[in-house]
Amino acid sequence: MGTYARQDIVFVRGEGCWLISEGGERYLDFGSGVAVNALGHAHPKLVEALKTQAEKLWHTSNLYRVEGQETVAEKLTRLTFADQVFFCNSGAEAVEGAIKVARRYHYVSGAPERQRIIAFRGAFHGRTLATLAAAGNEKYLEGFGPTAEGFDHVEPGDLEAVEALIGPTTAAILLEPIQGEGGVRSFSAEFLRSVRELCDTHGLLLVLDEVQTGVGRTGKLFAHEWAGITPDVMAIAKGFGGGFPTGAVLATAEAAKGMTPGTHGSTFGGNPLAMAVASTVLDVITEPGFLEAVQTKALHLKQGLEGLKDQHAGLVEEVRGAGLLTGLKLKSTITPAQVVKAANEEKLLIVGAGDNSVRIIPPLIATEEEIGEGVRALSRALTRVAREMS
Ligand code: PLP
Repeated sequence: MGTYARQDIVFVRGEGCWLISEGGERYLDFGSGVAVNALGHAHPKLVEALKTQAEKLWHTSNLYRVEGQETVAEKLTRLTFADQVFFCNSGAEAVEGAIKVARRYHYVSGAPERQRIIAFRGAFHGRTLATLAAAGNEKYLEGFGPTAEGFDHVEPGDLEAVEALIGPTTAAILLEPIQGEGGVRSFSAEFLRSVRELCDTHGLLLVLDEVQTGVGRTGKLFAHEWAGITPDVMAIAKGFGGGFPTGAVLATAEAAKGMTPGTHGSTFGGNPLAMAVASTVLDVITEPGFLEAVQTKALHLKQGLEGLKDQHAGLVEEVRGAGLLTGLKLKSTITPAQVVKAANEEKLLIVGAGDNSVRIIPPLIATEEEIGEGVRALSRALTRVAREMS
């Protein structure tokens, strides 16, 4: 179907941070398949994990215990706030599952009227009917029939508005620590802590969508760690599978107490192939020094982007983001599509985003040299755009 406005490039191979087109041209991939290829392309450990599993067992269904799920769940619960994990296949499914966990929690706690979820304008939570309603973006809802009920929206950062919306039917607050698709817009640590407090005061669950920010993307395993808080429920996907489609809903035992047999499910969720890869992704990212190295590289990237902003002050308004989830908010005289196109011409892949911005999201394994190379290519791309405009 014609759902994508695709660029006319076919990639046939990937090596680390590089993608090779069918014409043999090498592109520096600073889009990471929209924050998916956390360990780059064809990472030897991921290839090995997938091959080994492929020779043993592909699928059994969730009618039986799945060894790989137990391994990954043990790792996730050891590494995070969570006590329980539900595996699915994508980000939207993970957020959808998180919404179900939150509502079901209140249902089994004797407050079935608590169904409403407070979410933030500019958010992106996926393309299912409930996750579209959660984000409330009219553009994506248009033409798809009745909007799923039960979501209230506020402006990011407006704590008073959040508080004013809390009522007897509120179940949870849902947010991305950094709105990725929305234009790499961060919530401050202070705001996140205040939202956590509001949830505690009013008996709400804090549901984080870390589909884009999670699994090392910001230089911590999960972005909420920067604020020193923990959620009750969290959706993850994207980098979690390093390119193999997988997602998960993580929750405390208390938040997940309503998720009893038969309340939720997925045929493919936690598939052995996905689990073999996800388990290895977690091992690599939690190796001593890995996340510290991401933080160092992130600093380098941020400095480079700040330099670009000074150099191209007529085009770039702001440098945004944390870790290797960075963005440039562009001046209103240019569009993200122009910058993405010019970057492609410089053999650099970046990704457009909302709020007139572009995302620069390299694989976490990018070297300092590759970061430098990417910044220089982006600088040449901005020079191109400036030239085209004059
Ligand atoms: N949540 C966030 C924060 C996302 O960035 C995305 C995808 O971009 C999703 C959810 C949906 O993920 P998926 O496309 O895997 O369904």
